[in-house]
Formats: sequence, C-alpha cells, structure tokens
Amino acid sequence: MSQSENIDGSSAVEIMDKTRQAMVEMRSEKGFQQALVDECDLCNSIETEAEFQEPEDRPLKKKKQCDYESWKLNGFHQKSETLQNFCEASVNLGKLSLLFRRFIMAVDSQVFKDPVVTFGVLTDVQYADHDDQIAAYDPSKTRFYRGSLGQVDDAFKYWERPGSKVKFVLQLGDIIDGLNRFNGDSYTSLRRTLSHFEKHSSIPTFHTVGNHELYNFNRKELAALFYESVMKINIPQEIFSPFKPVKDNHPISTPVLYYKFSPVPELKCISLDCFDISVLGYDSQHPNYVEATKVLYSKHGHEIFDEWDCEGSLTGLDVRFQQMNGAVGQEQLTWLDQELKESDELGQKVIVFGHVSLHPDSSDWSCLLWNYEEVMKIFHLHKCVIAYFSGHTHKSGYALDSHGISYIAFSGILETPPDTSAFATVSYYQDKLEVHGHGMERSYNIPLQGLKDVANDDNDSAVDNEVEPPPPTTVKVEV
Ligand SMILES: [Zn+2]
Repeated sequence: MSQSENIDGSSAVEIMDKTRQAMVEMRSEKGFQQALVDECDLCNSIETEAEFQEPEDRPLKKKKQCDYESWKLNGFHQKSETLQNFCEASVNLGKLSLLFRRFIMAVDSQVFKDPVVTFGVLTDVQYADHDDQIAAYDPSKTRFYRGSLGQVDDAFKYWERPGSKVKFVLQLGDIIDGLNRFNGDSYTSLRRTLSHFEKHSSIPTFHTVGNHELYNFNRKELAALFYESVMKINIPQEIFSPFKPVKDNHPISTPVLYYKFSPVPELKCISLDCFDISVLGYDSQHPNYVEATKVLYSKHGHEIFDEWDCEGSLTGLDVRFQQMNGAVGQEQLTWLDQELKESDELGQKVIVFGHVSLHPDSSDWSCLLWNYEEVMKIFHLHKCVIAYFSGHTHKSGYALDSHGISYIAFSGILETPPDTSAFATVSYYQDKLEVHGHGMERSYNIPLQGLKDVANDDNDSAVDNEVEPPPPTTVKVEV
C-alpha cells in the first residue's frame, strides 16, 4: 500500500460520516433519483474501485473519469454540489471497501505467517555414567557421556524461554548408551535420563526406539518403561493415546513399539520401529529374530553374531546389513499404509520419524534401514508425507526425493562439546517446513509446494538422486 492510500482509524470514521451525510442529502433530492439510476454505472463501476487497487490487481480496461465536468455536461449543473458530495461518498465507499478487503487479506496472510505447529528435535543422547572417550568410529570425535544430560537441559531451556511456541519434542532414539548394560546401570541410567525430559511436562517428549535401548532392554521391558514415562507427562487423550503393554511372558509375543499422534488436527506424526525385524530386543525364538538372522547370514555368509556388527566384506548399499540396523516388518508397513491413507482422506500432512535413515543421500549407507525402499514406496503411494526425521548417524544430512519428501538426519547430542549444542526447532507452516538448527545442527527452509500427487505417477522410483537438495545454512543461536 502506498503512503497516499493509507487510511487510519480516524480517517475511516470521517469518511463514514461524510458518506452518511451525502446519503441523507441524496435521499432528500427526489429529482435526483433518475440521475442516480442513470449514472450508477459511473459511481459504482469497477473502474472507480480499481483506482484504489494495487497496480497488479487493476483490470486492464480503460479507467473512466469520475469528474464533475462530465456531470455538468449531462445537464446536472444545479445539482453539482450534491453530486460532488455523492461522488466523493462513492469514492470513499470504494476506499472503505478496499480497506476492508486489505484487512481480510491481512488476516488471511497471517494464517501463512504463523506456523501450524512448532516442536523440538534432538537425538542420540546416549547417556552413561562413564568418562568421556574418543569415538571408535571417528578419532576426531569425543563422546561426552555424562555431559549429554546437560545438553538436554540446555535444549529445554531454549524451548521453554518466554514467547516460545514449542509444543512438543521428538527424541529420535539412542537415549542411553549400550555401555550401561556392561556397568549394570541400564535401569538407573534410563530413569535418570527420562527424568530430564519428564520434568518439562508442559512440553511432552515423544520417543522413538534406537538400537542402544535394545542393547539394554528387551522390547517388553522397554515398552513398560516408556509407557510408565508417558504416564508421568501431561498429554491430552485427543493428541496421544498410548497402548498399555500387557504383561505376557510368552517368548513369541511382543509389544508394538510404533505409534502415531496428532499434535494439531492438520498434522500427524508417526514413529517407526526401525528394529521391527532385527536381532535386537527379541527372544531368539521370535519369528522376527529368526527372519533377521536369515537376512544377516545371507549377506555376511556366516553366523557369528558379533561380526554382523561391521561391514566385513559388504560393499555399496549392502553395508546397511549390520546388526545395529533392522527392517520395518510387513505388519508395520500395512499399518503405515493405512495411517497415510487416513491422513490423505483427512487432508492432514504427515511427518514420519524413526532412528535409522531411509534415503541413501541423507546419511552414511551403514546407517540405512535394511528395507528403506519399501518404506519410501509406501510414502509414495500417498500425498500426505512431507518429511522423515532420523538420528543414528550422528551428523546432519539432508536429501529430497523425487516426490518432494525431505529426509533429514540430525546431529547426535553425545558428541557435542560442552561449549556448543546440537538440537533443532522445527516449524511446520502450511507452505513450508522450517528447521532451525542450534549449535552444530544445520538449518533448512523447505518449501512444500513441490509435493507431487503421486497417485497417478507411473514412473515411480524410490530414490531420485538427480534432485538437488536446497543448500543447508547454519544459524548460530545462543542458548
Ligand atoms: Zn543408533
């Protein structure tokens, strides 16, 4: 809006008064009735209104002149003063109309300015009451086992600052380290770590299962511990209804560790169990364990459990077939498909999260889900998925697939020096996803208009490496 077109509140009142006065005069002049009918096109024309529109909104039609000379020429000399008032009133009505329209537009645009929901993300806390040590996989990195809980506190300090819109937190797995098992500290360490999340009950944390949890607990123990933790924080039933694990000592039965929740009606979040088919957390008689051993044997050519946890002779994308990874089973895939179908029907968008990466360009190949392509193909059957978030790889990574879905791997907290941080604040807008990385975490601004309606796409491929991801930028934030 240009300066000359600005109308403040007092001007608007003045305009309305003048308009009312002109209308009273108009009604008192009965001889004017016909003139008004004859000239209504002039005074109510879109051209008059168009004078007050933004240039790009104006119709191309030539603008008529609403001047008093043309009225005089038409034989209305004696009525010129009242006509002038009426014409001004009409022009003023046009201004009011524009003012009202701009107000409506401002309200509308606010819908796009404000995020639908904002939430926090952190991963790989891997707490242990253990001295710092050099990371075995990368000697340039140090693992700060005890310091990781301070990192969690710092992240919540940021998310709880005045004016924060953070509604919940996603914890992407490996909340405690496997070292705890050897120290006999599994339960103590998990409780100590969970208490750092539970004390922030106004910002509930949703956890996904990592391989390190399953080094410490079997699935039944873990399900019971997480259920107990969820019960301590305040999550409304309409957002999340956890399934209470039943006590059952049968070796084959197992609780389900994947779930969904809807923080707002416009968005569904789905947590995947990336170790559904794996050798972690199961009794050795469990069919999912047996299936996983067959997969690992077929790739490694031996049955030595400990040597399944390295690349060995594996090459290329096959390096993902290690015992620290797993696959999403058929039952879970069917459930995922149904959940995405429901979201399509509801017009919801979906963010899926799990510990292990899906897109080969988003992380090291040794950190990929065994059947990542099957999961991505399910995503591609629907138009609701906007992003998949993962941890596990301990460094930031991003990939965009051929269907416009973003795959983001987040930095791990464990290897974050005490003078910095590694967490993210994510805002979902109707037209974009904003990932605000803190400290070592990267930031991304991802437009969502490019999402394809893939239902009619015959040339579907799970991964399109020709699609260039937007360049990430790092934003440093003091916490
Ligand atoms: Zn992991």
